[in-house]
Amino acid sequence: MIKIYKNVYVWDSSRKTATLSDVKVKDGKFETITRAGNMSAKCAFDGKCHTALIPGFVNAHGHSPMGLLRGFGEDVPLMEWLQERIWPREDKMDGEDMYNGTRLAIAEMLATGTTCFADMYFYLDQISRACEEIGMRANLSRGIMGNAEQVMAKLAKNLDFALHYKSDLVKISLGPHSPYTVPFEEMKEVARTAKEHGIALQLHWLETENEWDIALHPEGMAPEEYLAETGLASALHLLLAHGVHIKESAYKFYARDNFTIVHNPKSNLKLGSGIAPVQAFLENGISLAIGTDGASSNNRLDMWEELRFAALLQKRLTPTAMPIAKLFEMASEGGAGALGFEKLGRIEEGYNADFILVDLDKPHYLGVTEENLPEFLAYAGSSADIRATVVAGETLYQDGAFTTLDIERVKARAMETRKKIS
Ligand SMILES: [Zn+2]
Repeated sequence: MIKIYKNVYVWDSSRKTATLSDVKVKDGKFETITRAGNMSAKCAFDGKCHTALIPGFVNAHGHSPMGLLRGFGEDVPLMEWLQERIWPREDKMDGEDMYNGTRLAIAEMLATGTTCFADMYFYLDQISRACEEIGMRANLSRGIMGNAEQVMAKLAKNLDFALHYKSDLVKISLGPHSPYTVPFEEMKEVARTAKEHGIALQLHWLETENEWDIALHPEGMAPEEYLAETGLASALHLLLAHGVHIKESAYKFYARDNFTIVHNPKSNLKLGSGIAPVQAFLENGISLAIGTDGASSNNRLDMWEELRFAALLQKRLTPTAMPIAKLFEMASEGGAGALGFEKLGRIEEGYNADFILVDLDKPHYLGVTEENLPEFLAYAGSSADIRATVVAGETLYQDGAFTTLDIERVKARAMETRKKIS
């Protein structure tokens, strides 16, 4: 299928400035991108010189069904929040509830410009079903945690799903929850399995200050030794969520092609976990992505907001921190690469057509030009400016309406689950 977008300002993090362009999308990919006025084909969408076409956001860490748990635990510490507010309610949720929660989350993500997300939760069959039905791109993992026996059973399920699942839109990784919820020997087994089958891993990593004290590691072992000793460090790809409390002396260790630290600025602030030293990570050559974490610790799945928090938190120390292109790269191409998607996160011929259209006709864009568009997007724009969200060439959200989901039905079903677990 061919679709033309005319008179749109094209920008991505690999470009210094935007260019007023015409864009041809064919079979889910960008086929041609030219200066505006060069395409004579019948116009599907005319941006009228006040629309930006930029990459969709990649939300690189989250737990999508947790939107159902929003508001159940505010103003409490992380462990109390998890153990008393969240986990008992999760125990009451079945596969259908996961499906309902995922659809609710995808609706929220599409409306705020996310075109791809990472997930760690339960019932991969139901979460992947929601993605496929809606047409959403994702990398999903099953949260693996518990005692030795439970971990091995969950690992077997996660692996079985990963080996048998085939999809262009959805990838499957392994999701060992954290070093404090998976015993040491079993973590080795998870890492060994991932390596044997060439599967990526998602892991919570040094989120809170005292986390290493309760982690299940041999006495005296440092976090980086743990990554090496378990074999996690030699995984095909290791997505380390949070990384707030990585010691300065270890920064160099994390600068590896197969590592990505996912920065979750709002969740870290809200749970009192701290502020990850992201600017220092950048200066040390560490690969970075951005995520929202689950909706119940954020409480929004809005990557645009997350991106601005990420910038402002680093600028509290120095205004030159977090250059705009780097910021958007973390939220698009950086996340896409970390999730194993190639040719994703740029507006470039041959790349996957995952993008958003942004309305520049609003008062806060007055004065926007090809040169300053990135600055306007970073510090004046917001997800409220999104006109359309497109995944693999398919428009899934446009002007407040969803094309592949019945939002009233999604909300009603999610409400049923919410009542059940309240
Ligand atoms: Zn998380």
